[in-house]
This record gives sequence, structure tokens and C-alpha cells, in this order.
Amino acid sequence: MIRLDAKTLVIGSGPGGAMTACVLAEAGHEVLLVEEGDHVPVGATEPYSLDDMTRKWRNGGLTPSFGPVKVTYVEGRCLGGASEINAALYHPPVVSVLDQWARDYGITDLGGDALLRHIDAVEREASVSPFPGSPGIASERLAAGAASLGWKSVPVKRFWKYDAANPLGRRQSMTETYLPRARAAGARIQDGLKVKRLLLEGPRAVGAIATNREGRRVEIRCERVIVCGGAVQTALILRRSGLTRGIGDTLTMNPMIRVVAEFDDRINEPAVGVPVQQIEAFKPSMTLGCSNGTLAHLALWLVGAQGDREKLLAEWWRFGVFYAKVMGKTRGRVRNVPLVDEAHVSFKLERDDLALLGLAAERLATVLLAAGARSVVNPVPGAPAIRSLADLPALRAGVEAGKAQVTAIHLHSTVPMGAEARGCPADAYGKLRGLENVWVNDASLLPDTPGINPQGTILAIARRNAERLLG
Ligand SMILES: Cc1cc2nc3c(=O)[nH]c(=O)nc-3n(C[C@H](O)[C@H](O)[C@H](O)COP(=O)(O)OP(=O)(O)OC[C@H]3O[C@@H](n4cnc5c(N)ncnc54)[C@H](O)[C@@H]3O)c2cc1C
Repeated sequence: MIRLDAKTLVIGSGPGGAMTACVLAEAGHEVLLVEEGDHVPVGATEPYSLDDMTRKWRNGGLTPSFGPVKVTYVEGRCLGGASEINAALYHPPVVSVLDQWARDYGITDLGGDALLRHIDAVEREASVSPFPGSPGIASERLAAGAASLGWKSVPVKRFWKYDAANPLGRRQSMTETYLPRARAAGARIQDGLKVKRLLLEGPRAVGAIATNREGRRVEIRCERVIVCGGAVQTALILRRSGLTRGIGDTLTMNPMIRVVAEFDDRINEPAVGVPVQQIEAFKPSMTLGCSNGTLAHLALWLVGAQGDREKLLAEWWRFGVFYAKVMGKTRGRVRNVPLVDEAHVSFKLERDDLALLGLAAERLATVLLAAGARSVVNPVPGAPAIRSLADLPALRAGVEAGKAQVTAIHLHSTVPMGAEARGCPADAYGKLRGLENVWVNDASLLPDTPGINPQGTILAIARRNAERLLG
């Protein structure tokens, strides 16, 4: 057995863990951050390629959940977590949503402008920037379609840095921002180390049991633990440690469908990355936008399309991938299964969510037709493509009936923070109730889905909580 010692153990290196390690280390604390996945530097793999998905995505990409409607979910598993694989689209926290959380869950210090200075710091430190110049053909087409319908759309900012030498810029994920800062401030960062469970003695954690790449058991001894494995894995680690009360019962997500739209001329430019245009008109309850269009991704979303897929793919440059996602009310569950390493995740999609997703699908197809799409591949496998407004009711009905493939890339709320009286297992700053020295500081803490792209909200809240921890 290998033994490691630390004062503060941070588990997981995504936005929550990276921010926590950085704030604590820069304040002079001795930090050991452990990450299950490998360090794969930005630029070492081609985004959305097989190599990328094998090395950086949990289970190589999509993981199925259990439930009556097909829902697959996506997680990062590498140093930097999902910030290394995501579209890097930035949305500032929505103040009305924060206000509502503060009220509904009894969270002080969150609503109004309480998060403002943390938001400002995140935007500055992670180089949140607009796309320079034209945002690309897909974005321009979506913007033109939206404008013709009177819907507001904007090119959203990204966690991205541009300079004259590299006009396409560089992703500002955790391995480019908070992790190097944490390391420079003295934090030890160990990848390839998976925590199985916490070691608890009465009301205190005294460490954790982990395994390294070679499968050897590693015992980590520490004075306090901050769990930041992401919404699913954090719940799994805690539940495996025997901490089950209120943990993993309230998983939220933004249900999303993707469609492929066929145009007469070029729409797909993989070099620009994920096109940044989003339709603002229906936020935060509904977001419509452009998705990644690499060949592998395109092929994935053409599964279920009518016609000869190979023939379609031969003209890949005429096809773009687009998404509609909604602010769901569904509460899923994360469970640990004895002797099985993986989480058991289940969702029973609520009718209201399916109805909203049906409306979102209809609006997405409407704007794509307005943008000049010749047809939109139906997200309901085997159903005919949408070629005119007359096809929209059938599309909406199919999605409402739960026949489309639903994906969740934004997962939250498995360890909601808030007042004890509201049943929250963590206090308003992420400290677990009933334990003296265990905190959570990642997407798990958000008491509900923020609806919008959540990384900015997760980073700002993690910064707030880490500062509180220092106090
Ligand atoms: C495909 C995709 C696209 C997205 N696009 C956007 C976007 O454009 N904009 C946006 O704002 N958000 C986006 N998101 C969401 C955003 O990336 C996440 O909300 C955010 O990364 C969550 O941060 P986190 O720290 O909670 O967890 P994660 O980012 O999931 O990080 C958790 C880390 O902990 C590690 N870990 C887990 N269990 C263990 C263990 N037992 N031992 C050690 N380490 C462990 C994991 O390997 C992982 O690296 C996207 C997500 C995905 C998957």
C-alpha cells in the first residue's frame, strides 16, 4: 500500500476542484489535489476525435442512464474535468435565478450582487472573451434565421484567449488557468488517482482510500477533505463512504436534443470549433444554438436518420449540428451499486420537461428553416425529415412523447447547499451536515439547474465558498 499525507485533500480537478485548490494554495494552505483521469494538455488531441474521447471523456463519451426515456449523459474524466472537453461557452450567472435559490433554499450571500466580485474575477482570470471577427457561417446563418423571426440572438463569449500569433486562440480550461496557479502556489497535483471512499472516524474524515493507475491501493491521510468530483461522481464517492442522507436524490440537468440540418451550400467549418451563436429570446428556460460539426460528431447525430448515411456524410460540409436545451424540472438519482465501480444514474423525465423540449425542438427547426436549411433530420429515430412548417407538429409530438434521444451535458444538484429546514445535505457554503471537516465544492452544490451554460456559475460559487473556507 502507498501512503500519502496532506493537510487539505481536494478530490477532482474540474472547475470546482481547480478553483478550490487555487484559492486555498494561494492563501498559503498545503493542498493535495487528486484526479482520477490523466493530464492531456490542451492541443494534445483533436477535439471530439476518437483519441480525445478515449483519453478525456468518461466511458469514451456518452453514458446511458436508466429510465423510460433514453437519456445519455456526458462527463469529463481528465485533469481539468469537463472544462477540457466542453464548448467553453460562457454565460454569466443569472441574477434572478440566484435570487430565487437564495429565497427557496435559505442561502445567504448569494442573491443580488453578492456574487458579483467573484464573477468579475472569473471573467478576468479565465479570459472570458468574444469571438474575434466573424463567428463563422453556422453562427451567421442562425443569427439571420433568428432575426427574420424577430428573435434576439448573440455570439456568446468563451473561456478562450486570442492573440495576434494565433487568431483561433486557445481554450482557457482548468489546465491553462487555475491548476497552474495552484501548482505555482505550492499545491501538489496528482493525476491518475481515483478515490474510492473517504475514511471516516466519528464526525471527522481522516483521509481517503484511492487506487492508482496500476491498480495499487493508496491511503491518503489528511485533516480535511473537499469533494469536487462533479455532480455524479461526488454523490458516488459520498454514498460509497456511507454518507447517503439527501445525497444523490436530486440530480438536475438541462435536457437537450441535437438535430442535423442540411443546407445547399457550406455550413460546417470544423476549424472554428463550436460555433458561438445562441438564441437569447427564450433564456434561461430554453437555449437554442450551434453544436460541434466534426465528422465523428455529425455521424453520431445522424444515427436514426432516413436515407443513406454514407452518402449524406460524403457531403459533410453541407450539414451542421444544432441543439435545443431546456431548464428541466426533472430530478434524477445517483446510486452506488455494491461491487460495481460505476454510478447507477436514473431519470424519469417529467411531462413538463418533455413538453418544453418539444416546443424547443419546434422552435429550433423553425429557425433553421428560416435560416435556409433544406431539411432538418428528425431527432426521433426513423421519423421523416422536417422540410416545411407543416412538418413541425409531428416533430413536436414525437419529442413530447419521449421518442427522441435526450442528452445531458449539464449535471448538478446532487448535494444541494442551503438551509437544513429545506432538506439540504450541505450548508450554504458547501460544508456537509453532520461532519466536522468535509466540504463539497462543485456542480453538486447548485440547488437547482441554472438553465444556462453553468461553468461560470460553478466557478463563481466555488470561489465564494473557498474564500469562506479560509475564514
Ligand atoms: C460535453 C460537454 C460540454 C459542455 N459545454 C459547456 C459549455 O460550453 N459551457 C459551460 O458553461 N458548461 C459546459 N459544460 C458543463 C461544464 O463543463 C460542467 O458544468 C463543469 O465542468 C462541472 O464542473 P465540476 O467541477 O462540477 O465537475 P467536472 O468538470 O465533472 O470535474 C470533476 C473531475 O473530478 C474527477 N473525479 C471524479 N471522480 C473522482 C474520483 N473518485 N477520484 C478522483 N477524481 C475524480 C473527474 O475525473 C473530473 O475530472 C459542458 C459539459 C460537457 C460534458
